Amino acid sequence: MTDRDTIVALSSGAGKAGIAVIRASGPGAASCVRHVAGGDVPPRRAALRALRDGPAGAAVDRGLVLWLPGPGSVTGEDVAEFQVHGSPAVIGKLLSILCALDGVRPAEPGEFTRRAFENGRMDLSGAEGLADLIDAETEAQRVQAQRQMEGVFAAHCAQWGGELRRSLAWLEAAIDFPDEALPEDLATQVRPAVEAVAAGLADWLAAPDRGRMVREGYRIAIVGAPNVGKSSLLNRIAQRDVAIVAETAGTTRDVIEVRADLAGYAVIFADTAGLRDDDAAGAIEREGMARARFQAGNADLALHIVDASAPAVPAAAPGADPARLLIVANKTDLAPAPGRLPPGADFAVSARTGTGIGRLLAEIEARVTAATAAAEHPALTRLRHRQCLEDAAAALTRAMEATEAELTAEDLRLALRAMDRLIGRTDVEDLLDLIFRDFCIGK
Ligand code: GDP
Repeated sequence: MTDRDTIVALSSGAGKAGIAVIRASGPGAASCVRHVAGGDVPPRRAALRALRDGPAGAAVDRGLVLWLPGPGSVTGEDVAEFQVHGSPAVIGKLLSILCALDGVRPAEPGEFTRRAFENGRMDLSGAEGLADLIDAETEAQRVQAQRQMEGVFAAHCAQWGGELRRSLAWLEAAIDFPDEALPEDLATQVRPAVEAVAAGLADWLAAPDRGRMVREGYRIAIVGAPNVGKSSLLNRIAQRDVAIVAETAGTTRDVIEVRADLAGYAVIFADTAGLRDDDAAGAIEREGMARARFQAGNADLALHIVDASAPAVPAAAPGADPARLLIVANKTDLAPAPGRLPPGADFAVSARTGTGIGRLLAEIEARVTAATAAAEHPALTRLRHRQCLEDAAAALTRAMEATEAELTAEDLRLALRAMDRLIGRTDVEDLLDLIFRDFCIGK
């Protein structure tokens, strides 16, 4: 990789109180150290040096220099790190000195991680895990991203891939040397192993979408008739004014979302347009109601709000799966018997006084925790992962149905390729730009 550019960027920290880390990676990292630190520094040991623009230059700052020769570095290349004071002037000066050196240029977003991936220091799903770790807002997101970064997919795929490769070797031997005395009935030799992997994949795919729930947030739709207090409830939950509270029906025409951190999980509450008779509504309101129904149907949980003070609490819920639905009677402060749960309701609350909100949130928390609880297989956090595994599963189904060894072997190869794609070992060239583009500069 000696023809490569050396890339440089601020990799962390800035500001008066902070120490900034400037990182260089590539074949020119050693010259970067020599140029600014006035000579070599010992590998993997912090060295305090005055940092200058060449031996004759005036000192820019005094800081720690780390020299991490490849391949045992974060990118797999030679890496130099300079820890300096975090002021924009120091950072700017040092970056411009380094980038003026031969073969050195500023890094693109995600370029350090991309080099780590290309040099085999990290698998592709691991790189995605790092991107998620950088973006993590909640504890659950951090834990999930950290696991993925450590290579859980790769470990999972390695075990199954090993079994498929063994089966493939048996089949290929039978195809290439039909006259050799191979054990009888190869198909029965290979089948149990393929079946076991197929069952494992099916299991993994059948698991709920917990990776997405953790990464993107657990979605809760707040639905119900106009004026039952949906917006007020959301405001009470969010503890700030995010939705418009008004006496007039049909104010919340679009969907308003509030992101919250509930016991370490990202939860998205979506306040939707009030549902009433389509005929009584205008075109815009009808569109709002269509979106509300869509939200309710696609949420991980729908809260159907009803008015506890109304003479009759409507029982029918707007098209949501009963397992993902809670009927919440609001305005219990106005109800004839405030302490009592109206028939058909799961919870009685008052958005005005706050009664019952704690219990409702505890129930939501329990559901989020159960839905995202760690399971046997690592969580699939992106659609890409699911697609790779679905391709692998489909190929294995075909492999088991095929009547000729050649066809079975070909499908086993396809299944292996799909699993390799998950961790970025094959067929991913066109994906790399997309994946690494989302990183920030310096990572
Ligand atoms: P939405 O159309 O379902 O979003 O309903 P809003 O949140 O706009 O509330 C409609 C009206 O009911 C407003 O005047 C609120 O102040 C009132 N309201 C909402 N929740 C409660 C509650 O728990 N108790 C009482 N007394 N009034 C409420």
